[in-house]
Amino acid sequence: MNNALMATYNRLPVSFTHGEGVWLWDQNNKRYLDAISGIGVCSLGHANEAIAEVICAQSRALLHTSNIYGISLQEKLAQQLCKITGMESVFFSNSGAEANEAAIKMARLYGHQQGKQTPTILVTENSFHGRTMATLTATGNPKVHAGFEPLVQGFLRVPYNNIEAIQTAAKNNNDITAILVEPIQGEGGINIPDDDYLTNLRKICDEHDWLLITDEIQSGMCRTGKWLASQHYNIKPDIVTLAKALGNGIPIGACLAQGKASNIFQPGNHGSTFGGNPFSCAVASEVIKIMDEKNIAEKATAAGNSITRKLSDVLANTTVVNEIRHKGLMIGIELHKPCAELVSKALEQGLLINVTHDKIIRLLPPLTISADEIDKLTNILERLIKDFEQTSNEPTN
Ligand code: PLP
Repeated sequence: MNNALMATYNRLPVSFTHGEGVWLWDQNNKRYLDAISGIGVCSLGHANEAIAEVICAQSRALLHTSNIYGISLQEKLAQQLCKITGMESVFFSNSGAEANEAAIKMARLYGHQQGKQTPTILVTENSFHGRTMATLTATGNPKVHAGFEPLVQGFLRVPYNNIEAIQTAAKNNNDITAILVEPIQGEGGINIPDDDYLTNLRKICDEHDWLLITDEIQSGMCRTGKWLASQHYNIKPDIVTLAKALGNGIPIGACLAQGKASNIFQPGNHGSTFGGNPFSCAVASEVIKIMDEKNIAEKATAAGNSITRKLSDVLANTTVVNEIRHKGLMIGIELHKPCAELVSKALEQGLLINVTHDKIIRLLPPLTISADEIDKLTNILERLIKDFEQTSNEPTN
């Protein structure tokens, strides 16, 4: 690999030249089934024709002006986003971490408006919110913090899926101004909270006049079978963040707000050079249009059910699988043992997967995956997991 690059990533020994749908091809023209879609980004698959058309047309018409002017494509995208989420106003960024930065700044401004000295945001263990200083501080993973101290002030950590811990924090701290939470934890291992967790968070936030901020950067945009995972629980957050699949590969993030959160930011409070430029907005508009017209949310639900049903059947008698968790096409297969080696074993078999938290196989395939592709995916995975069981049971001399 190229040593002109900073060593920020442990890269797998493969690089791709082109793709189509769920498939990618490497430099030797070997084909891979992409069951991770660039970590939940290419939800409409690779080289989507309609998106390619928009990219070409918009690049000829206008790429960038500036947020010092009106941007009609940004206004259109904001309206589409408000329609599908029930939110009321949007700030556009270029990435997930930046969308969360906007949300964090809004929570602080809101806290100061309430007269709080040190506005504090509740965040959870095992969470992931990004790699900027504030979002890495919000992230509940010591490995992400290590070496970057001093961390940012104003965050208080509680266990995930634990309402009592939040009630205790509320009693002991008058400066809490918001809760920032993933409706389903992605990097943390596809952790799906109790059915009433988000409803209870909504109630607590209302009782204390806190903002409920949901990070839907991984779980949003139909990934779990709804535009937002929070829609499964019939709650409306005050602030939602999106990125990843919103642009299907074009960098764009969004911080959406409603109700009392809608007008927190005033001119001069926040901004971005690239955020919401005509190019990224035209592409994201097309993504929403396709997802809507092609009933992608329903497809994600059906495909997620099909994959997990098949895997549960074929792996029923294995001893190595602890649990299969999923909502739509956000799928985690938790093994009893660390299984990071499965990533390269899968690569050899022409399958791209991810392992998070040492022993959780994470699948985030394109939401367009077909029945035939589901069979291919589950067949390879079945073989991999059964082989892994066998080899890890063999005595070592
Ligand atoms: N929040 C969640 C839930 C994520 O999964 C991620 C990325 O994996 C981020 C935030 C950060 O997004 P980005 O890498 O676009 O900054």
